[in-house]
Amino acid sequence: MDFSLSEEQAELRRMVHDFARGEVAPAQEQMDRDHDFPYETWEKWSNLGMPGILIPQDYGGSGLDSLTYILAMEEMGAVSQTFALIWQVHVMVANMYVHLGTPEQKAEWLPRFASGQNLGAFALTESGAGSDAGGVRTRAVQDIKGNWILNGNKIFISNAGTRISDGTVVMAATGEQEGRRKAISCFIVPTGTPGYSLGQSFDKMAWHGMDNSELVFNDCLLPATSILGKEGQGLRQALAGLNLGRIVFGTLGGALAQACLEETLPYTKERKQFGKSLSDFQITQAKLANMATNAETTRAFARYVAWLHSQGQDCHTEAAMVKLMGTKLAVESATDAYQLHGGYGFMHDYRVNRLYREAQILAIGEGTNEIQQMLIARALGC
Ligand SMILES: Cc1cc2nc3c(=O)[nH]c(=O)nc-3n(C[C@H](O)[C@H](O)[C@H](O)COP(=O)(O)OP(=O)(O)OC[C@H]3O[C@@H](n4cnc5c(N)ncnc54)[C@H](O)[C@@H]3O)c2cc1C
Repeated sequence: MDFSLSEEQAELRRMVHDFARGEVAPAQEQMDRDHDFPYETWEKWSNLGMPGILIPQDYGGSGLDSLTYILAMEEMGAVSQTFALIWQVHVMVANMYVHLGTPEQKAEWLPRFASGQNLGAFALTESGAGSDAGGVRTRAVQDIKGNWILNGNKIFISNAGTRISDGTVVMAATGEQEGRRKAISCFIVPTGTPGYSLGQSFDKMAWHGMDNSELVFNDCLLPATSILGKEGQGLRQALAGLNLGRIVFGTLGGALAQACLEETLPYTKERKQFGKSLSDFQITQAKLANMATNAETTRAFARYVAWLHSQGQDCHTEAAMVKLMGTKLAVESATDAYQLHGGYGFMHDYRVNRLYREAQILAIGEGTNEIQQMLIARALGC
């Protein structure tokens, strides 16, 4: 077994490390304060070719593999979970176009996603369909000319409401399948299509700076060529794409545990109570040791699952496991880090306060942790 990184991987990791700490860290503070999308930082990130990390070079991307992407996520996630997630959603959507797009769809959209000129978004969730993705009520019907007419609402959608959002992938029911389950298809919806508008923008506990909007479709007319992938196969196709997203969520959990350690170790060395540093108390040391272990074990497991993914091996159960493990350990680490900061951790000025809030959403996004447990149990034959 060879755990060493290639020269290219080590170089990319160094570059992301420097960019995250030099450019994204100050932008993160501003995002948390003003809740504005980080357009300038995204542009600088785009100049490094990072929005197109998985897009083939023929379409203007970097054509790197999922393991290298995960290594970059480790570095970004330790500094800004928000920026990492903006990037993750974009990469996931671009990847759907890579794997499902027709040559025309790829030629139209991939260069725009690779350059970062446009930001990708993926719209599945509705008020009545969260974990039960098959319950979507947004509906598309074909008119006599073969065009699709889309009606319905989506909520919580990341990245869809910025001024660079375009080519949003929307999941809608297009009929019934055998056994009366809905047939669901993926649609490409360009920004500015008549009948497509943004509803409310959600005010969140964390990930300030990421846009999360409601999408409204009111007789939204789309050409027959708008389907991405196969008609009626949208859910299966989208769920296959979620595997990489789940590896990212696990990775971000490990990165968050790392950030908790980086924040809490110096604090507990400096903070004195009862004439000693907090880090001199064994009970504190146990928490710090757990944080370090959480970060390291998640990193190692996520790299292994990313390697399986980059080899094209089936890893849907392992992806669910790493998502479950990494995000649980992130919540544990953030709770300990917050506790060790005493009353200061309750104050917004302290970074540990943001880490605590960010950890909670990792257990919900990309399929809740209960859904991951359900998938793992199913693989066990339950
Ligand atoms: C910040 C943010 C960003 C998001 N971005 C996007 C996006 O870009 N695109 C998108 O489509 N969606 C997005 N979502 C939606 C997200 O994917 C859903 O919130 C998530 O899938 C859970 O759905 P729900 O909120 O409706 O919860 P519910 O499905 O109502 O679940 C509530 C609780 O019940 C549990 N539960 C549900 N079913 C079962 C079961 N069968 N067995 C045991 N427990 C169960 C869940 O685990 C959870 O604990 C985002 C959400 C947030 C908060």
